[in-house]
Amino acid sequence: AKHNGRNNYSFFSADMAQQSALRVAIERSLRSAVGTDELTLHFQPKLDLSSGALLGAEALLRWNSPTLGIMAPDTFIPVAEESGLIVPLGTWVLEQALAQIKAWHASGMGWLQVSVNVSAGQFWKQDLPELVANRLRASSVPAAMLDLELTERVAMVNPQEGVLICQRLKRLGVSLSMDDFGTGYSSLSYLSRLPMDVLKIDQSFVQRLGDDQHDAQIVRSVVQLAHSLNLRTVAEGVETTEQHRFLQTLGCDQGQGYLFARPLPASAFAQWWQEHLAR
Ligand code: C2E
Ligand code: CA
Ligand code: CA
Ligand code: CA
Repeated sequence: AKHNGRNNYSFFSADMAQQSALRVAIERSLRSAVGTDELTLHFQPKLDLSSGALLGAEALLRWNSPTLGIMAPDTFIPVAEESGLIVPLGTWVLEQALAQIKAWHASGMGWLQVSVNVSAGQFWKQDLPELVANRLRASSVPAAMLDLELTERVAMVNPQEGVLICQRLKRLGVSLSMDDFGTGYSSLSYLSRLPMDVLKIDQSFVQRLGDDQHDAQIVRSVVQLAHSLNLRTVAEGVETTEQHRFLQTLGCDQGQGYLFARPLPASAFAQWWQEHLAR
C-alpha cells in the first residue's frame, strides 16, 4: 500500500472497518429476511428481436430491508455467497419462481419460461440437480419452463465436474443459459463441452454498440460462434432502438433491457404482458 502520511493510512483502515461492519450488518439482516416479504422477485421480459414475441422472463431478486433500506443484489448477493446464506436464499428464489410460473398459467396467461440466476455456492455447495428435480416435482411445473442462468466463472471452478452437473441438469429437461458471456476466462473448447442452450451477451458489449466498431465485431463473432454451437443468443442491457437495430443486423436472436421493460413486480409484469399481447 502507498504511504501518503499517517492520516490517509488511518482513514483507509477506518474505511475497511466500516466495510466489514456493513458486511456483518447485511449478513445479519439478510439471515432474518429469507422467507419474509422483505425479499421479492421482479421479472424482466426476454423478447424475440425480430418478431417482438415474448419468450421468457428473468427473475431478479429485490430486497427492501427495514434497517438497511433498498439493497442492490450486487451488494448483498456476494455477502450471501461468502456466508453460505446463498443456499437457502437460492432455494427460496427457485421455489418463488416456480410458484409464479404456475400462478400465471393458472390465471390463463399461458406458460412462460422463467430464468433463475444460479451463483457458485448454489452450484457447488449442494446437489443442485437433486434440488431442482425435487422442486420441479413438488410444483408440477414442466421442466422446460425453467431456465438456469450461470456464468462461465461458476462452471470453471471445477471444469470437469461442472460439465457433469450441467449434464445432469439438462437430463431433467431444464434449459441452461451462459450468463455474462465475454467477461470470464473460459476457453471456447470448454464452452463447447457444456450442454448450454443459450448464450447471454454481457451488457458491457451491448452498451458500447454504435460508437465502437470493435465491439460490433466482437458481438458478431460471439453470435456466429454461438450459432455454430447450436446456441441461441440473448443480448442483455438493450436500452436504445439503435442497439436493438444493430443487434438484429448482427444476427442476435433475443433481447432484454430497459428499452422493452425494466424488471417488474409480478403483478406489473402480468399487466405488461397483457398489454404486450394486445399490441
Ligand atoms: P445479471 O444476472 O447479469 O442480471 C442483469 C442485470 O442487469 C440486472 O441487475 C438487471 O436489472 C440489469 N438490467 C436489465 N436491463 C438493463 C438495461 O437495459 N440497462 C442496465 N444498465 N441494466 C439492465 P440487478 O437486478 O441489479 O442484478 C444484478 C446481479 O445480481 C445479476 O446480474 C445477478 O448476477 C445477481 N442476481 C440478481 N438476482 C439474483 C438471484 O435471484 N440469485 C442470484 N444468485 N443472483 C442474482
Ligand atoms: Ca442473469
Ligand atoms: Ca447477465
Ligand atoms: Ca451481470
